[in-house]
Amino acid sequence: MKNLILIAAPGAGKGTLSHDLLSKYPYVHISTGDLLREQVAIGDELGLEIKKVQESGGLVSNEIVYKALENKLKDPKCNDGYILDGFPRNLEQAHEYDEILKRSNRDLGLVLLLEIPKEELIERITGRFTCSNCGEIHNIYNEELKPIKEGICNKCGGVLTQRKDDNLESFEKRYQTYLESTAPLIDFYKEKGVLYTIDSSKGHLNTLMQAEELLNK
Ligand code: AMP
Repeated sequence: MKNLILIAAPGAGKGTLSHDLLSKYPYVHISTGDLLREQVAIGDELGLEIKKVQESGGLVSNEIVYKALENKLKDPKCNDGYILDGFPRNLEQAHEYDEILKRSNRDLGLVLLLEIPKEELIERITGRFTCSNCGEIHNIYNEELKPIKEGICNKCGGVLTQRKDDNLESFEKRYQTYLESTAPLIDFYKEKGVLYTIDSSKGHLNTLMQAEELLNK
């Protein structure tokens, strides 16, 4: 399977598309946001430092992210294909990732850009709840993803939790960070001829279908 990089503004559906792909294909999911949140959960000094940055909507320092990523890439399962969700987040990371690929003798694969109007992102972010047990993503503003019972996962009955940074203030900061730091990756990967655009405003199943068409090309 081809490795995938997902590029998207916060709330555009990177996590949901990853989750949908993982339910059908044996990819390894590498979410740098999740890896960093795992470090936060440990509660040490590094975790506290990361927590502050994540809650403010800024980017965690490159060195911390590279360490978490390289550690995860040591898993031999990654040799069969992985989804990079949330990395690279800026041009410096993209250049470093080229080096990481060279060092580990891996292919870049495909870069999928998820596009969606900004107005839709706000509801997606502020209404998003994730199952603490199975990771299923719900949204209280979306009929397809709405929890049937408040606070409870539709799939496994686990407890739903909301991310601390899923509020309007933090969204605006993360969106600005996306425009300034991450959006330049679009031209970077376009020039390499590996970038494909997906319209992610038509529901998660439609987004999955578009992604599968590209994977099977
Ligand atoms: P995400 O779960 O991808 O929305 O990431 C949540 C937060 O983790 C971001 O707002 C950043 O603070 C941090 N983060 C995730 N991935 C990266 C990255 N590649 N570089 C720097 N910070 C990151």
